[in-house]
Amino acid sequence: MAKQIKKQRIKVPEQDPVARIHNFNEVALGYTWDLAVEEASRCLKCPYSYAPCIKGCPVNVNIPGFIQKILERDIKGALEVIHTTNSLPGITGRVCPQEEQCEMNCVMGKLGDKINIGKLERFVADEARKQGIYPDIPQVEKKGKKVAIVGSGPSGLTAAADLAKMGYDVTMYEALHEGGGVLIYGIPEFRLPKEIVRYELKFLKMLGVKIVTNVVIGKTFSLYELLDEYDAVFLGTGAGTPKFLNLPGVNLNGIYSANEFLTRINLMKAYQFPEYDTPITKGKRLAVIGAGNVAMDAARSALRIGYEEVYIVYRRTREYMTAREEEIKHAEEEGVKFMFLVSPIEFIGDENGNVKVLKLIMNELGEPDSSGRRRPVPIPGTEFGLEVDAVVFAIGQKPNKVLYQEVPELKTTKWGTLIVDEKYRTTMRGVFAGGDAVRGEATVVLAMGDGKKAAKAIDEYLNGEPWPEEIKPANFW
Ligand code: FAD
Ligand code: SF4
Ligand code: SF4
Repeated sequence: MAKQIKKQRIKVPEQDPVARIHNFNEVALGYTWDLAVEEASRCLKCPYSYAPCIKGCPVNVNIPGFIQKILERDIKGALEVIHTTNSLPGITGRVCPQEEQCEMNCVMGKLGDKINIGKLERFVADEARKQGIYPDIPQVEKKGKKVAIVGSGPSGLTAAADLAKMGYDVTMYEALHEGGGVLIYGIPEFRLPKEIVRYELKFLKMLGVKIVTNVVIGKTFSLYELLDEYDAVFLGTGAGTPKFLNLPGVNLNGIYSANEFLTRINLMKAYQFPEYDTPITKGKRLAVIGAGNVAMDAARSALRIGYEEVYIVYRRTREYMTAREEEIKHAEEEGVKFMFLVSPIEFIGDENGNVKVLKLIMNELGEPDSSGRRRPVPIPGTEFGLEVDAVVFAIGQKPNKVLYQEVPELKTTKWGTLIVDEKYRTTMRGVFAGGDAVRGEATVVLAMGDGKKAAKAIDEYLNGEPWPEEIKPANFW
């Protein structure tokens, strides 16, 4: 008799919402061995050449391949399969928007729930870490050529790993005091524990990649100096400059960009001031302007540092929110309050220059704008004030210009992103770029996919492929 396939997903245990808003421990606890094997046994093991899940993954992880190894209880084997194309599985297993990528076209969706690929990938990485297992280091012939990587976020890390595996001598420069980019300073501990990032970064060091921190290219060294020393350069400098709304009172104390707010919490432990020396405004009520993943991270972090009432202030309705459904659900469970169809118009401060009131106006939805989403239209006479102790802007970010401003050869778009062609070549010979520096804001795995393809293009260039006379801008969207 044919074996019955379980239609429902095996649930992942989570920390209780009441308890978790008082700590920074991870929310999703992950599968145990038995749960992972049960979920893995639901996979139909589609053939490699056909599997739609592999096609949906920007770094083409061999998903049925690693799931088979879980069923064989071979953790090193499963890790080796994933690492063939993805050096950061503990990270991607946690933060990839899997529902829009690998899981989107999973054929199990026709019979029941799709396979929980992300949580299985995370399981492999976690179990390997618990046992101190890393993949074998490939023995490759050294190429005798040097590549510099600027920025240690997922695009830079992936380019570095792939180039090191090909035999290049790779050095990575990072402006902050620790490598990892947004993975370290942006995404909070309760979604991505930093020990995971550090463990996966160690593998890069094992591959021979040198990571030099506290160096800002464009200040400490120029791009020209890097090009004198290295045969090629990859720019994975991200999009770390926050956007604000130019409203009256926007410079009051207690108004933060999400980047600053999260960096103070994640990297500088600001909530433990004065034990750690970076303060952060403490109070009762905080409003976050925006409705993406970054806004959810800021709101949920605010609850954990002691704010009693945290509001998401969004100008459209819930269906237009860009945050992942899982993040919205977690925020709701934790008690974050959502205010829809409202826009900020002014910030009012007290006599000491601290923000006290966020003035808002109500909207209705009008005709669709160029993005296809219905435009919020303010309703005159509906202004009102929300008393606050702090406000966080999470309305998007753009690339930082420190590196490019003195380099006229590097051309950018009107949004400040670097222009590259389909082989990630910038307008400057020998310089490649990828990730948020090129896309604006994207995702971890898209940045990794860029790093991977750029590494291949760098290898081709260093093996004699001519640099084009003219760079034809690619469109990655
Ligand atoms: P980054 O990760 O931004 O790294 C760039 C690095 O370059 C930084 O460390 C920076 O310090 C360094 N740098 C910049 N300029 C210089 C210079 N001149 N010299 C030296 N170093 C320099 N994506 C997801 O897929 N899932 C999520 O859940 C998710 N959540 C997010 C939450 C937050 C709070 C934020 C901010 C982003 C989130 N993202 C998420 C988006 C994702 O993190 C980014 O798309 C991704 O990190 C981009 O990678 P990157 O390599 O291009 O750059
Ligand atoms: Fe899915 Fe991301 Fe893993 Fe690819 S890297 S298989 S998209 S979780
Ligand atoms: Fe398994 Fe779904 Fe991928 Fe098929 S599409 S191999 S069922 S995860």
